[in-house]
Amino acid sequence: MDHKPATIAVHAGRPAHEPDQPLNVPITMASTYVAGGDKEYGRYTNDAWVAFEEALGRLEGGRALSFASGLAAVATLLDLVNDSVVVATEQSYLGTIGQLADLEARGRLTARLTDFSDTDAVVKMLEKLDGEVALVWVETPTNPGMQLADLPAVIDAAHKAGARVVVDNTFATPLLQQPLALGADIVIHSATKFIAGHSDVVMGAVVVSDDVLWDVLKARRDLLGAIPGPFEAWLALRGLRTLHLRVERSAANAATLAERLAAHPAVAEVRYPGFGGMLAAVLPTAEQADLLTRSTSLWVHATSLGGVESTFERRRRWKTESATVPDGLVRMSVGIEDVDDLWDDLSQALERLGS
Ligand code: PLP
Repeated sequence: MDHKPATIAVHAGRPAHEPDQPLNVPITMASTYVAGGDKEYGRYTNDAWVAFEEALGRLEGGRALSFASGLAAVATLLDLVNDSVVVATEQSYLGTIGQLADLEARGRLTARLTDFSDTDAVVKMLEKLDGEVALVWVETPTNPGMQLADLPAVIDAAHKAGARVVVDNTFATPLLQQPLALGADIVIHSATKFIAGHSDVVMGAVVVSDDVLWDVLKARRDLLGAIPGPFEAWLALRGLRTLHLRVERSAANAATLAERLAAHPAVAEVRYPGFGGMLAAVLPTAEQADLLTRSTSLWVHATSLGGVESTFERRRRWKTESATVPDGLVRMSVGIEDVDDLWDDLSQALERLGS
């Protein structure tokens, strides 16, 4: 039966409804299995990964593979590129950009970073690179600039140029954006963020619709060993059970806060794409942004995002963050608290900036 996302999030990846079956897949702490079966060794499979993969795969409309972190998933994918061009969103997560730069420095690929919010420019670039580009890497919305890509147009242009398309769906989650249904070949997630949702797990995932590609990636994971622990996968699945409720509440809170921040005189610009639980507030200076992050009691100044609690961060505090990100940009991960409490905390901090 074709269930809706909320039902899939709650029910997928559970043991069969049979007497004495537990409702949740137990955590199997085993590095090895009695020889002669399908499992054999803990680097190849684990029941908690398989359950998590079943649930995430169904939400994204493909087949999933769990990884040790979002960046382990990125590394495993980029490991498949040999002596070819990768076109990527210039404001992608800084770790993704870091991996591209590292591989380029070692002569493994040529990275062409560009602004994907300019669809015409991306399409023209892909037309020029016809036959030379292996992968088009799209992060949308971008971390932390909150820029959007026109996925159908970019996917079409990438396929015409002979490239596969990867979409980093970490910010949107499969509830708000399903890249595979739009024709993308691969979805990646930092499951650390909204999927697991409680700031207590580091984990990643890849989702594809093509069985051959799934086999290739599974073989790469077996070989490279970038696997999560059983407990991490179990926690990520437990978090995913409430993804729909958390995303709904974060998004509603984010929409309200975006409106209130935009009306506040201390805020120069608000970037909110109109969906999801992430937004960015740009303050006129880095100093004001830093002061804001030091002046709240509910909002926590912390990196990472997608947890139940609201966190924020001036991203240019990281030396490796793209220079295209404004110095005073504060990335905000809106949690599921009461929105008026969140606003009261922010607005008293914003009042301090003027004094
Ligand atoms: N992709 C995006 C959009 C991210 O925000 C992050 C981490 O912040 C990653 C990938 C990397 O994921 P992880 O930190 O789980 O390795």
